[in-house]
Amino acid sequence: MEEVGTGLLDRLDAMQRVAASAPGGPMLIVAGPGTGKTRTLTHRIAYLCAELGVFAEHCLAITFTRRAAEELRARLDGLLGPVAADVTVATFHSLGLTILRGNAAAAGLPKDFRIADDTERETARKEAGDDAAAYVKLLRGQDLVDLDELITLPLQLLRKDPDLVDRYQGRWRWIFVDEYQDVDETQYELLRLLCPPDGNLCAIGDPDQSIYSFRGADVGYFMRFAEDFTDARLVRLTRNYRSSAPILAAAVQAIAPSSLVRGRRLEPARLDPEAPLVGRYAATSVTDEADFVARTVDDLVGGLSHRSLDSGRISGNAAGISFSDVAVLYRTDQQAAPIVEALARAGIPVQKRSHNRLRDRAGVAAIARELRLSGPAAEGQLPVRVRRAGQLLAERFATPTLDSSSTPSPADVWSAVEVLTPLARRCGDDLEQFLAQLATGAEVDALDSRAEAVTLLTLHAAKGLEFPIVFLVGCEDGLLPLRHFGSSTEDDTAEERRLFFVGLTRAQDRLYVSHAQRRFRLGSERDTGPSPFLGAIDAGLFERLGTTEERRPKDRQLRLI
Ligand code: ATP
Ligand code: MG
Repeated sequence: MEEVGTGLLDRLDAMQRVAASAPGGPMLIVAGPGTGKTRTLTHRIAYLCAELGVFAEHCLAITFTRRAAEELRARLDGLLGPVAADVTVATFHSLGLTILRGNAAAAGLPKDFRIADDTERETARKEAGDDAAAYVKLLRGQDLVDLDELITLPLQLLRKDPDLVDRYQGRWRWIFVDEYQDVDETQYELLRLLCPPDGNLCAIGDPDQSIYSFRGADVGYFMRFAEDFTDARLVRLTRNYRSSAPILAAAVQAIAPSSLVRGRRLEPARLDPEAPLVGRYAATSVTDEADFVARTVDDLVGGLSHRSLDSGRISGNAAGISFSDVAVLYRTDQQAAPIVEALARAGIPVQKRSHNRLRDRAGVAAIARELRLSGPAAEGQLPVRVRRAGQLLAERFATPTLDSSSTPSPADVWSAVEVLTPLARRCGDDLEQFLAQLATGAEVDALDSRAEAVTLLTLHAAKGLEFPIVFLVGCEDGLLPLRHFGSSTEDDTAEERRLFFVGLTRAQDRLYVSHAQRRFRLGSERDTGPSPFLGAIDAGLFERLGTTEERRPKDRQLRLI
């Protein structure tokens, strides 16, 4: 446990300290990536509880992914010790689920309602045709609710019951929302009901990292905040503690053409004159790009021959870089396959998660059903039970009589087991919690931050995270910004640029951008040009890296030694 008391604020800079120690009332913290927004949020909660006598059980911290929630929880544990357990840390969906569980009868649901899995939704959807009311009825007949209803049903309950509103406003008197730029209409309405206009709502975010407008998120809620919550205090943080100066300079130049923050300031706190420039690699092909990533990771981590087998940490690697320090980010999931292959060929361990929903992953629904059938009383710890269920299903699906296109293959089942095991480990013995996460979580939620492996992520899934070494691959026109068959609008391009900005700003010490000359896209192999977003960055911030051919002799020489 870290030092409690005034020491808490000593770990913040002057502006962060103002935000963390501000009195109650609505507060909006608008600040760029790496400026310590999340750090300020956790320190504010800790300060309120440890110094100002606020009860931890009166605090509710909301974020968007389970993984981010766990990160918040871990940081609070570090700052507050056992008291942190009384803070409610939730995603919007898990918050909705908590409210519904507490008021199932009022919502017309049985106590043991469940969230519909994919097969159940599909079946109901097919049966109901276009009839949205009929769809809900079919679900209800089986005591099921749809994922979206985890927000809409609590909203309906609160809207018609002022006493319930009072109860929750009394329970959570201090509310914090991280990644506020991604709030959508129903989530915002829920916040408005949970918090009175003069309440202690602290919203934290960065309009320039808003990347979910395609799913209904709206940065307009930054403006609405000042209208709906009285005398909101506005705090800006401007010092970036995450990235080296060249990385930050590149990112700031990249966002400039579409920045939504007037007079954006983002200054590097890290001023190491030796900091390397942004590595830029022009690959001839997708395979060449993937080889570049594998080779560079291998070089950075110290080469296979030096690798200590049990930890992945490298002896003789002065910087102490390990595989878990490295992330490879890309725009579309399809880009992962060649990278995974190249890393695997080089003997480099990989963990790959997308921002897709966990329950959409092949094999997950079947595993969830199997666990539910075995019931809460079944023997063994959750990870063991997950593995056992996987074994059973893999055997069952391996028999040809069950063959159908919707049946997962044994390989699907095993890859689901691999994804779910860290999640199961974190849920301990709580089967209900585990099943709820399967229903509401994204694949990225199941990331194991301790795993000694290179992390592969879509740009969307990388939000809020940081890694010492980042590769942003596929920086090509058509991929970043992504163009589909239909033409893109200016708004789409701006959102793509923000996504690029999110990607660049995940890097702490080393950033590599790469593009391939040819890529298979939209049905054929095409010539591609570098992303126009790269053009917004000064050439002087890049170090052009050599091609495979140029490097080969040097590599061979090294291997000989
Ligand atoms: P994002 O917009 O990407 O979510 P953020 O604003 O939430 O970024 P944090 O993740 O809170 O930023 O902080 C970025 C990094 O900088 C973290 O490693 C954090 O510990 C470090 N940091 C933040 N503030 C300070 C500080 N005052 N002193 C030292 N390190 C700091
Ligand atoms: Mg953050």
